[in-house]
Parts: sequence; C-alpha cells; structure tokens
Amino acid sequence: MNQWENNIRKVTPYVPGEQPQENDIIKLNTNENPYPPSPKVYERHRTMEVDRFSLYPDPSASELVEKLEEYYGLEKGQVFVGVGSDDVLSLAFLTFFNSKKPILFPDVTYSFYPVWAEVYRIPYECPPLDENFRIIPKDYERENGGVVIANPNAPTSLGMSISEIEKILLANQDVIVIIDEAYVDFGGETVLPLLDRFENLLIVRTYSKSRSMAGMRIGFAMGNKRLIQAMTDVKESINSYTMTMESICLGAASLEDEEYFQNNLRKIIDTRAYTEKELEKRGFFVLNSQTNFLFARHREMSGQFLFEELRKRKIFVRHFQTERIREYLRITIGTKEQMEKMLAALDEIMCESC
Ligand code: PMP
Repeated sequence: MNQWENNIRKVTPYVPGEQPQENDIIKLNTNENPYPPSPKVYERHRTMEVDRFSLYPDPSASELVEKLEEYYGLEKGQVFVGVGSDDVLSLAFLTFFNSKKPILFPDVTYSFYPVWAEVYRIPYECPPLDENFRIIPKDYERENGGVVIANPNAPTSLGMSISEIEKILLANQDVIVIIDEAYVDFGGETVLPLLDRFENLLIVRTYSKSRSMAGMRIGFAMGNKRLIQAMTDVKESINSYTMTMESICLGAASLEDEEYFQNNLRKIIDTRAYTEKELEKRGFFVLNSQTNFLFARHREMSGQFLFEELRKRKIFVRHFQTERIREYLRITIGTKEQMEKMLAALDEIMCESC
C-alpha cells in the first residue's frame, strides 16, 4: 500500500434511491412530488436573463431568504438557505456538533445522519424506536452532544406531536436540537411555534417534496439569529456561492402561489388515503403516514420479493435491507393513475404467487 493511502479520509457514503433515466418507469422510490412546480416558477423561469449567468450569484441569496422570512413570519437573520436540505443538515452537523459527547438520533431514521456523523467524526448513539416505530422522548433525556429528529420520521412516515418534541427540547437546553421537517407539509405538526422559546432549536425544511422542486436543490433552516449566523460563517469558510441564480429566484417565485401549493398537498393527501385503503385490502399492514409516502409490509409476502417483482414491472419503490425494516416497502405517493398501476401490478404478483 502506498503511504498516501493512509491519509485518505475513508467513508462509507450514503446511497440515495435509484434515479433511472428511462421514461417509462413509475418512480415511487425517492419521495419526489408527482406534480410540477407552481405556474409562478414557470413564469419566472421564462424571464430569466441568461446574460447574467456570466456573473456570480448573490452569495447571501437575499431574495430567497427574505421571501422565506416573510412567508414564515420570521425576523431578518432567521433563515439560512442551502443546496437541498442535505447541504443544510450537513453544515448544521459541522457547525453545531463539536462536543466529545455523542449526538442522539433514532435507530430507524434518515440514513444520511450516521454518514455525516462519520465523515465529521462526531460520536453518535441511536436510541431504538419502540415496537410501533415510535420515538420514545425519554430516551433523549440523557447527556448528549446534540439531538436530531426527523419529524415526521423517515422511512417510518410517523410524526410526533409538538408537545412530545417540547419535552425533548426542555430536557436538552444545553445542546442544539435539529428538527428535520422535510415532510411536515403533508400532515405533520411543525415546531415553528416553539422557535421563540427555544434558542437552541433549528428547524430544517426542503423544496424537494411539497414544493415539487427536488431538481433545483433548495433547502433551508429556520432558527435563532445566532445559530443562523454561525452556520453562515461556516458556509462562507467553505463555499461562498452555494445557491445558483436559478435556485434563488425560482425558489422565491414558488412562495408566491399559496393556492397552487395547498391544492397540490391536498391531492397527495387524498391519494395517500386511497392507496392506504387499497393496500390494506390486499393484506398489507400500513403505518399511519403523515408524509408523501407509505411505509407498509405485507402480512405474508417478503419485502425483498415484492420490491423485486415490482421492479421487474418497471415500478420502483424503496426497500431497505436494515434488520428492523426488512419486510417493509417505502412507497412514494404518486398520481392516482400511478398508484392504480402499482396496485394492479401487486394484484398480478399476488395472483402469480398463489
Ligand atoms: N431529510 C429527510 C428526512 C429526507 O428524507 C430527505 C430526502 N432524502 C432529506 C432530508 C433531503 O432532501 P433534500 O436534500 O432533497 O432537500
């Protein structure tokens, strides 16, 4: 082995869901939104001045930041934006988790958390969810270097109430508590009302799910001005220009159309209720989702088998090999038509195997 090999930072990367490039696939594996972005985004895109691409973008992304502050009723300096919430979360780990004590997040949660912890060499511990895949607030009352909770949680789809999270915040006033609200718009309970009371609370959100803009890579954090400033200082020590001109102005445009946004959410929530019922009729046990996906296992057929059979029929869902959730499928809510095709495929699979 060459000596330089010793100096390489060795990491096991996060593995995202597949992004197949063919067009005839029903893609229910990465929790994208099946509907297009707001018409306001199209309008703004048409008027973009390509000539300006020769200049650097605004490093503080002020148009987007100010629109978000206004939309959420926050003060200037309470919003931080980044390249998807992955970028925002990664920077938050780097900025806030610098004690020698382990940070805490559940054993079944967004599988990027342990990857950031490893890459930044942050010790961590993972309290197990209970047997119903619920987070146990008491488990977060021990000494730690920080707490990260996805609410609603992924891939379980289950949300916690604001009062349960308040318990976690009350027990953890000396560390930063990150609440990842990637899926909250689909029926979760936001902790935004707690922002004034807890200066150590950081809420992270994304445009990738409810705003139909995964391809634009826009995420943001909301919190106390000192937290936002600390993240900004770290970001500006790494890369001044993270957001492109397009993501700044199209992200701002998306906020101008509340009616379109709410309609879009309603359609997904309705399709979720329909799909849940239909899956139950077919022998699935389905968790009570507050997200744009369902987490379900069949009472007789294995998760791996169903995943592979659906894949053969060009229907991609997500399946995890992790011990506790091996029998489950995570199914993104697509259009009603896509869900009908998925259900028809399941009928075919079940018919063939009986
Ligand atoms: N948090 C959670 C819980 C997620 O499931 C995802 C999506 N993979 C993200 C954050 C990151 O989303 P994005 O980087 O697209 O904003």
